[in-house]
Amino acid sequence: MIRHHPTLETLLAHAAGTLADGPAVVVEAHAQGCPQCRATLDALDATGGQLLGELSPAPLEPATFERVLARLDVSPAVRPSPPRQASLALPQGTRLPAALRNAQIGRWFWVAPGVRYSRVRLPWAPAQNLMLLRVGGGRRVPHHSHGGMELTQVLWGGFRDGDDRYGPGDLGEADETTAHQPLADPEGCICLASLEGGLRLPWLTRLLGK
Ligand SMILES: [Zn+2]
Repeated sequence: MIRHHPTLETLLAHAAGTLADGPAVVVEAHAQGCPQCRATLDALDATGGQLLGELSPAPLEPATFERVLARLDVSPAVRPSPPRQASLALPQGTRLPAALRNAQIGRWFWVAPGVRYSRVRLPWAPAQNLMLLRVGGGRRVPHHSHGGMELTQVLWGGFRDGDDRYGPGDLGEADETTAHQPLADPEGCICLASLEGGLRLPWLTRLLGK
């Protein structure tokens, strides 16, 4: 049962195409497994399409039209290459979301005791900060806050964040006002996370004496 969903604000931004590519992939991964959010997004798409249909069509400048055609021409060349699916040794039965099918997924790197990270690169938006996180049973993610929005979709296992518990299919949303230190369930967890504005790690800042 899914208990945590993206906020309506985030779903609206996704439907309007104004969400950055990293968070958009996380919201897609969530919606692929959440009939409730899928239905909301479909309804928003239908509404948006209707609104567009009601606007009087403005004639397209010939130059604009040519630019659009030119972009269509180049698209096959910039189409992402097939994913380089590293051996992530995921627990049996764990499937990466279809939203990651064109992403390039690196190998696991150690980031903190019990915490490993794998960079997820979107060939069409390589600057996006998207990652898989694997947290060992009973381990905590280092205490941190964010410079922007953080979306975390649980793929396997679960974690606690304050009084809230997140299980498979749940999406956690945090922003620059949130400082937290999620705690993995006894079996651990694997999440897909997008991060905007970087991570603020007070313990690291203290360590570096900055
Ligand atoms: Zn949902």
